[in-house]
Amino acid sequence: MTTLRNAYLDALGIDRWVPRNAPVETAPEIEPPRVIETAPAMPAARAPQVPSFVPPPPVATWDELRGRVAACTACDLCKTRTQTVFGVGNTSAEWLVIGEAPGADEDRQGEPFVGRAGQLLNAMLLAIGLPRETVFIANILKCRPPGNRDPKPEEVSRCLPFLSNQIALLRPKIILAVGRIAAQNLLATDAPLARLRGKLHTFGEANTPLVITYHPAYLLRTPADKRKAWEDLKFARATYARITGGANAPGNG
Ligand code: SF4
Repeated sequence: MTTLRNAYLDALGIDRWVPRNAPVETAPEIEPPRVIETAPAMPAARAPQVPSFVPPPPVATWDELRGRVAACTACDLCKTRTQTVFGVGNTSAEWLVIGEAPGADEDRQGEPFVGRAGQLLNAMLLAIGLPRETVFIANILKCRPPGNRDPKPEEVSRCLPFLSNQIALLRPKIILAVGRIAAQNLLATDAPLARLRGKLHTFGEANTPLVITYHPAYLLRTPADKRKAWEDLKFARATYARITGGANAPGNG
C-alpha cells in the first residue's frame, strides 16, 4: 500500500507523507491543523428557494433515494442528460467527497469523477491513505449541465435535497468539498475558494467537519496549485485523525 501511495504522490509531484508510527522511512510527519475556524451552522444551500417547488420528504433507504434521483425531472437538466449520476462508493464510508456536477464522461458512464479528473482525485485520496472504494463520492448536481457550464441557482436549489438526503443516510465523519461550486453551495457563500480553504468549516445540523480544496479538473489546468491541494489534504487527514481520536485507518476503518 505504501509503495502504491508513494507512486501516486510521485505522480502528483508532491512530497511523500507517512504516519508518525510508520515503521520505516523518514518523511516529514503530518503537521497539526494550521487554522481551525469553525464556521457557524450552515444553511443547506445558498441558492434562493423556488416558491413553486416543494422538495419531496427525505427517504430512509439508499435504494429509494437512487430511484428518486433516476426518475427526477425537477429541473431542465433532465432534458439533456444521458443519465443521472447518483454517486458512488461505500455507503458506510466515514469520508464524503463532494464535487460540482457530472461532466461528459460522467454523464456517459453514470459515475462521478471518471476520466482524467477522476484519476487525479483517486490519486489525491490515495495519497492520504484513502482508496476510492473506501469513500463515498457525490456531486452538488446529479445531472450534467450542458457544455459543463456552472450550475444555475434553481438547479442547485432543486437538486440539493438529494445531497442532503445522501448526507443524512451516510452520516459521514468528515466532508471534503472539491472546487468552488461545491464549497460555495455547501457554505452558502460567494467567497472565493482561496478564502475558504485552509480552514475547518462545518456543515448541517450535525456540524460535520468540512474541508475545502481545489477541484482536480482545476489542478489539471493549474498544476502549480497541487502543492496547496496537498496541504489541504493533509489538513483534512489530520482533522479526521483528531476527531476520531487519532485513528489511522482510512475511510471506513
Ligand atoms: S439536476 Fe437534480 S434536480 Fe435537476 S433533474 Fe437532475 S436530479 Fe433532478
